[in-house]
Amino acid sequence: MAFKERVFSGVQPTGNLHLGNYLGAIVKFVALQEKYDCIYCVVDMHAITVWQDPIELPQATREVTAAFIACGIDAKRHIVFNQSQVAEHAELAWVFNCVARVGWLNRMTQFKEKAGKDRENASIGLYSYPTLMAADILVYRATHVPVGEDQKQHLELSRDIAQKFNNDYAKSILAHDYGEAFFPLPEPLIQGEATRVMSLRDGTKKMSKSDASDYSRINLTDDADAIAQKIRKAKTDPQPLPSEEKGLETRPEADNLVGIYAALAGTTRADVLKDFGGAQFSAFKAALVDLAVSKLGPIGGEMKRLMRDPGYIDSVLAEGAGRAQIIAADTMKAVKDIVGFVRR
Ligand code: ATP
Ligand code: MG
Repeated sequence: MAFKERVFSGVQPTGNLHLGNYLGAIVKFVALQEKYDCIYCVVDMHAITVWQDPIELPQATREVTAAFIACGIDAKRHIVFNQSQVAEHAELAWVFNCVARVGWLNRMTQFKEKAGKDRENASIGLYSYPTLMAADILVYRATHVPVGEDQKQHLELSRDIAQKFNNDYAKSILAHDYGEAFFPLPEPLIQGEATRVMSLRDGTKKMSKSDASDYSRINLTDDADAIAQKIRKAKTDPQPLPSEEKGLETRPEADNLVGIYAALAGTTRADVLKDFGGAQFSAFKAALVDLAVSKLGPIGGEMKRLMRDPGYIDSVLAEGAGRAQIIAADTMKAVKDIVGFVRR
């Protein structure tokens, strides 16, 4: 069965948006607008799976929205909103909690990493995070989901949930005239040179909003001086850069910086090494600073400008939520019929 092609993705308002979010996700969001109908969501309900200060959360939600717009997402042609304004996400997540199996969720590495040693004390929301994520995507019956590499496992779980729903309710889906399958199996879009940007302090750890050290990441709102300082201080090894990609295999920090350069320049690691093979890190880092400042500087500036008008940002979110809800409400009506809930 052919589903209408649609893109969905989300970003959590959990703190400082960084280069990993930008290269791994937002740059892709922008590019996909040309080819698809896109829905981009600030997932505030995901954010509270770990504690968020209620004074700071609205600000963080507006900041992600400002980043979307500053990076070139067109909120008029596409849909931009925050998750909690469309209650259908939570509604469908409940149904999916009853479709997904405990054994499936027990395999999720993000929960293990985020819960850490004190698993007993993690929120139930953090554990069931992937069922809400499946609902985010499938409440729009989205077919394509651009994400960073770290979300691959959750995307696979979303596909498993869609598949199991389609199987478990196959008869009812057919009886209600939805054909062979009600939900598409959403496809992850994880491509390019920066699907997993690593910490600038430790090339084996993902760059993350929640890293305690601000030197581990480049924030989208960092000014030129901060960007320069962080890149200059980034961990490296003592060797010059290799001329071939193969030479990066055992050098995570070098691989990360070359990958960042390639992604920012819109080229490949191999091409970057054609120019910088044999160069010392000091020279390469200077070039990377120039490139990063020229790409990120204008975005940070535009974000700060937009953030000065929270009323405007809230109006974008409200308008987007209204349009999103029309689609989501349609899906929920159908899901209720399929599951067998009596409805008005
Ligand atoms: P948190 O630490 O709160 O989970 P995060 O930095 O992982 O924050 P998310 O909001 O969870 O950010 O993720 C938003 C998008 O950014 C997702 O598509 C995710 O895969 C992508 N992403 C996050 N970190 C990286 C990274 N280091 N490299 C590439 N993509 C990333
Ligand atoms: Mg994350």
